[in-house]
Amino acid sequence: METIIAASKNQHKIAEIEAITKKFGMHIVSRDEAGIPGFEIEEDGETFEENSFKKANEIMKVCGRITIADDSGLAVEYLGGAPGVYSARFAGEDGNDEKNNDKLLNLLEGVPYKERRAKFVSVITMVFPDGTYLTARGECEGHIIDAPVGEHGFGYDPLFVPEGFQRTFAQLLPEEKNRISHRAKALLELEKLLMERKNV
Ligand code: IMP
Repeated sequence: METIIAASKNQHKIAEIEAITKKFGMHIVSRDEAGIPGFEIEEDGETFEENSFKKANEIMKVCGRITIADDSGLAVEYLGGAPGVYSARFAGEDGNDEKNNDKLLNLLEGVPYKERRAKFVSVITMVFPDGTYLTARGECEGHIIDAPVGEHGFGYDPLFVPEGFQRTFAQLLPEEKNRISHRAKALLELEKLLMERKNV
C-alpha cells in the first residue's frame, strides 16, 4: 500500500477520501498523523482549483511526499454560485456548520423548491515530489431544502437532497453518500488520471 499525505485536517473528508482510495491501494495519513507542523494555509484563491493546488503543494513542499488535497464547497444557483469557495466560512471566520446552514436558509427563505438548485463541487489535487500534479473535479447536483434533516456527514449535508433521492446527504449512509458524492466523482476522475500517468 502506498501512503499518501492528506493536506486536510477535516476527519470527515479524510475518511471519505480513504474509503475510496483504499480500493486503489492508497493509504491516507493526515498531516497531523504525519507530524507535519500545524501552520495554517490561507485559502485565498478565487477557484476551488487554486485552493486545492495550494493546499497540496504547500504540504508536499514540507514533507517531500505525495500529497492529496480537496477543496470543496456548495454552489447555490439562486445565490449566483455562493457560498462557493467561501463555504467553510460563509457565516464568518468564527462560524460553524450550524451557523453556515442558518445563513443559507435565511437567504433562501420563501424561495420555492424548484429554484433551490445547488451543487456540491470537489476539486482534488495530487502533488508529487517532483512538482508535477493531477487535478480532478467532481460535482453532485441537487436541491436545498428548508430545514436540516439527518445525522450523518458534515457541513451542508442536512440541507442537501441529491438528484434522484428523497433524502438529504445527512440521511444517507456514509457508503451511499460515498457512491454519488462530488468527492467520490473527483476521486474516480483522479483514478483515471493516475492510470493515464502510469501508462505514459
Ligand atoms: P474546505 O475545507 O475549504 O474545502 O471547505 C469545504 C466546506 O464546504 C466545508 O466546510 C463544508 O461547509 C462544505 N462542504 C464540502 N464538502 C461537503 C460535503 O460533502 N458535505 C457538506 N458540506 C460540504
